[in-house]
Amino acid sequence: MKRQTLYFILSFCLPWLNSFAQLPRIKFQKAESYNSYESVYTGSVNPDYLASFEPISFNIYFWGINRGDGTSEKPMTYNDVEGVMRSINEVFNPHGIYFVLKGYSYVNNDALNSGATHWQIRDYMQQNKHIVSDAFNCFVPYDFKEGASANGWTELFSKTLSIRMKWAFNYKSKSTPHELGHILGLYHTFGKSGNGDIIKEHVTRNPDDPNYNALTEGDYIHDTPAMPNFFNPKSFGTVPKPPNQDASVVDCIYIGNITDEQGTPFVLTPYDVGNIMGYTPCKNANFTPGQAIRMMETIYFNEAKNKNILEAKTKTLKK
Ligand SMILES: [Zn+2]
Repeated sequence: MKRQTLYFILSFCLPWLNSFAQLPRIKFQKAESYNSYESVYTGSVNPDYLASFEPISFNIYFWGINRGDGTSEKPMTYNDVEGVMRSINEVFNPHGIYFVLKGYSYVNNDALNSGATHWQIRDYMQQNKHIVSDAFNCFVPYDFKEGASANGWTELFSKTLSIRMKWAFNYKSKSTPHELGHILGLYHTFGKSGNGDIIKEHVTRNPDDPNYNALTEGDYIHDTPAMPNFFNPKSFGTVPKPPNQDASVVDCIYIGNITDEQGTPFVLTPYDVGNIMGYTPCKNANFTPGQAIRMMETIYFNEAKNKNILEAKTKTLKK
C-alpha cells in the first residue's frame, strides 16, 4: 500500500534510566528518508518571538494493545498513562505547548501485541475505527516486530504514534515526547536520518562565517549544535568515519573527539547532550527555543502539513 507521506521517521526512542542497561546494541536501519525540506521554519531562536505565539493544547489518547485474550506481559495502566502525560508536559509546557489526556482504552490482538510494525498497528486501528479523531493516537504494544529496535515510531505531521510498553512507557521516558517532537516537525539533532550525515553540519554558529550551515544541514536548527548520535557514534551516514574519532556520554558529559567535516571539534554541553531529539543516555530532557519555534511555526503556519496536527487541538485554547 502506498503511503501518502514520504517523510518516514524511525525513532529509536530512548529507554532512559534504569532500562538503559537492557538495551541491546543497536544496528540502525536506513529506515528514515527525507527527500525535501518541507518546513516554514524561519530559523529564529528568539525567546521573545517564541513567547508571541498563542499557547496551544492538544488531546492525546492511548491505546494499550493486549494479547487476543485480553492479557499482556505488561499491561498499560493508568499510572503509566499519568506518568507519561507528566513527562510530556514537563518538556512541552515551558514552550507554550500543552497535552491533555483525552482518554485511554485497550485493543486485544495477538499479532499486534508483540509482532507488528507501527504501520501495521496504525492500519489495523484505522480500519477498525480505533482512532479518536480529535486527538493524537498513541498505540502501546508490548513490543514491536522482532528486530525492530525502535522504542517509538511515527512520522512527521502524523496523528498516530506507537510506543513500545516493554521499555519506553514510563515517567521520565523521553520516547513519547520525542515522537511528538517529530509529529510537530522536528528532526533528530544529529541529522535527519537514523544514521545522519553528522559531520556535514558545521560547528560554527556565526551566521557571518562562510562555513555556517546550521539552517541547511543536520536538523536545520541554529541552537542545537552539531552533534553525534551517541548510540551509534561510529556511523557518519554516507560519509566515511574518520578512523580516530569516537564519542560517548558519561553522566551527560560528552567525551569524544568528533569533528565536523572541516575538522572543527564538536562542543557539547550537558544541556545539548540531553536534547529530546538526540539519541543519548543522558537523562536531561529539553527542547531548545529554536526547536520550540520550529514546532510553533509548523503548528500555526505550515498550512501544507498541519491538518492532522490541528485536528488534535483541544477546543479550548489554554492561555
Ligand atoms: Zn526519532
